[in-house]
Amino acid sequence: MDVKDLLKEIQKNRDIPKNETILINRAFDFAQKAHQNQKRKSNEPYFVHCFETALKVAEWRLDAETVAAALLHDTVEDAGINLEEIKKEFGEEIAFLVEGVTKLGRLKYRTSEEKQAENLRKMFLAISRDIRVILIKLADRLHNMKTLKFLPPQKQKRIALETSEIYAPLAYRLGMANLAGELEDLAFPYLRPDEYKWLIENVKEKYEEREKYLERVKIVAEKVFKENNIELISIDARSKHYSSLYKKLFRSDMNLEQVYDLVALRIIVKNIEECYATLGIIHQLWPPLPGRIKDYIALPKPNGYRSLHTTVFCLDNKPTEFQIRTLEMHEEAENGIAAYWAYSQAKDTKNYQEGKTIFAEKKELAWIKQLKNWQKEVSGSEEFLNSLKIDFLKNRIFVITPKGEVVDLPAGATPIDFAYQIHSEIGDQCIGAKVNGRITSLDHELQSGDLVEILIQKSKKPSESWLKFIKTDQARRKIKAGLRKLPERKQKLQTEFLITAADRVGLLKDISAIISRSHVNMVRVNIPQTSHFPIIKIRCALNDKEKIEKLILKLKKIKGVKEINYKLVVV
Ligand code: MN
Repeated sequence: MDVKDLLKEIQKNRDIPKNETILINRAFDFAQKAHQNQKRKSNEPYFVHCFETALKVAEWRLDAETVAAALLHDTVEDAGINLEEIKKEFGEEIAFLVEGVTKLGRLKYRTSEEKQAENLRKMFLAISRDIRVILIKLADRLHNMKTLKFLPPQKQKRIALETSEIYAPLAYRLGMANLAGELEDLAFPYLRPDEYKWLIENVKEKYEEREKYLERVKIVAEKVFKENNIELISIDARSKHYSSLYKKLFRSDMNLEQVYDLVALRIIVKNIEECYATLGIIHQLWPPLPGRIKDYIALPKPNGYRSLHTTVFCLDNKPTEFQIRTLEMHEEAENGIAAYWAYSQAKDTKNYQEGKTIFAEKKELAWIKQLKNWQKEVSGSEEFLNSLKIDFLKNRIFVITPKGEVVDLPAGATPIDFAYQIHSEIGDQCIGAKVNGRITSLDHELQSGDLVEILIQKSKKPSESWLKFIKTDQARRKIKAGLRKLPERKQKLQTEFLITAADRVGLLKDISAIISRSHVNMVRVNIPQTSHFPIIKIRCALNDKEKIEKLILKLKKIKGVKEINYKLVVV
C-alpha cells in the first residue's frame, strides 16, 4: 500500500497536475488514519480494502476526485467520521460521492423476491445521480468478493446472491462485461458449490489444452496477417468466464464439445476497415461455421458492445472462435461506461473545468439511458418502463428499513408516510422517528438512502395534525380511518329495552342471562319497585337492528314477559 502505486496507475494514461497529486495524498493519509486501528475479517488492516477500491477506480481511468472518494468511501460508515468533516476537508463533490456510496452500502439484499430486486435497482438509480458513485461501489464490491472467504457462511451466501443478482447485471448493463464476468465468477462457488466443483474438475484440463492449441493458431495467424499488411495491436487467447461457461453448458446438455468459445483468440487492430479485412483473411484461411459470424460493429449489442465474431474450422479442423475489434472498442468492451467516462472527460476537459454541470448532465443522460435498458431487460413490463422516466425518478425517493428493505415514496415524504407504508398499525402508533440514527421530527423530509426507524407506543392513536404534512394518499386514508375509530370522537347509539313483565323471583336473572348469552353488554338497569307489572328499562351497548330483533324474540320467551319495546338513545 503506497500512494505512489495509485499515482502511477493514473499516470499510465495521463499526467497528473500537482493539485490532484496533493488531493490524492491527503485522502490517502486521512483514510489511513481514520481506519488505523481497524482490521478486515481477513486480519489485514482495513485500509487495504480502501486502497484496493481506489486502485481499481484509478485503473478505470476515473478522475482524481473519484479516486479520493474511493479512498474515503468507508470513513463515514465504518470509521465514525462525520460527513461534515469530509465536506470541510475535501469539498462538496467528494463528500457527495462518499455519501452516495455510504447510502448504497446500507442496502441489504435478503430475498430473491422480484419486487425487492426491482426496488434495489430503482434505489440505485435514485441515489446514484452521479455514475461515479456506482463505479466506486462496484470497485468496493469487487474487493469484498475477493475477500469473501473470510466471512461467515451465511453472510457469504447473502453477499454472493446480491452480487450475482444486482451488481453483476448492473456492471453488464453499464457495458463492463469483464467486471460482470469477474463478479459472477467470484459469486459462483458460493451459490452453486457442487456445479462449481464439477466444472473445475472437468474443464481445467480442457482450458489448458485449448490454450496450448491457440498458441499454435496464433503463430500461423500472425504470419498471414503480416503477409497481408495488417498491423496487429495485439493477439491473445482469452478464456471464457466459468460462470458464463456454466450458463452455456446448462443450455447445451452439459456438452463441453459444443462450446467453441471456451478459449477464443482476440485480435485488436488499428481501425474498423482493418477489422473487416482481418475477418476476410481469416475466412480465406479457414472456412467459417455457418451462422456463427456476428457483426456487432454494424449492429452493436444493447449494452453497446462492438466487435466482429466468427468461428472457423481451424488447425486440425477444430472449431475456433476469433474476436476482432479496435482498441477503442476493446476498452469499451472491458470497461464500458467507465471507459466512456474517461474518453469524454479527456475530450471535454475544457468544458469540464468551465462548467461542470453541463458535463455532468450529459453524462447523466447517457447513463440513465443505460440503466433504463437494464430495467427493461429485467422487468420486461412496458408499464413499468413508462413509469421509469427521469421525471418519475426525480419525484421519488427510496429509503431503507432497519432490516435493509427498500421503501419507495414520493419526494417530500415524511416518517409518518414511511410508517403507514410499512403497516397501518405502525403508522397509528408512531410517536417518533430516527433517521440515520438521529431522532427527527415527524414532519422531517426524508431523502433517498435514509435509514428510517419508527418508534411506537402501543396505545397511541393517530393525530389530526399529521394530515397537514404527509405526502401519500395511503397515509391520509389511514389517518382518517384511525381518527374515526377514536372513541371520543364517535357518536354512540345504545338500545334501551322496555320490558313489561309479571314480577317474580329470578326474572331479572333470567333476562340478564339471555342478554349476556347473546354477547351484549348491559350498560344500565332500571326497575321500578312499585308495580306488579313493572316496566324494566335495560340499556344495552347495541345498535344493530337485526341483533336487537333477535334478542327481543329470545326475551319474549322468558316466563312472565308480556311485552317488549325498544328505543335507540344517543350517548
Ligand atoms: Mn467498502
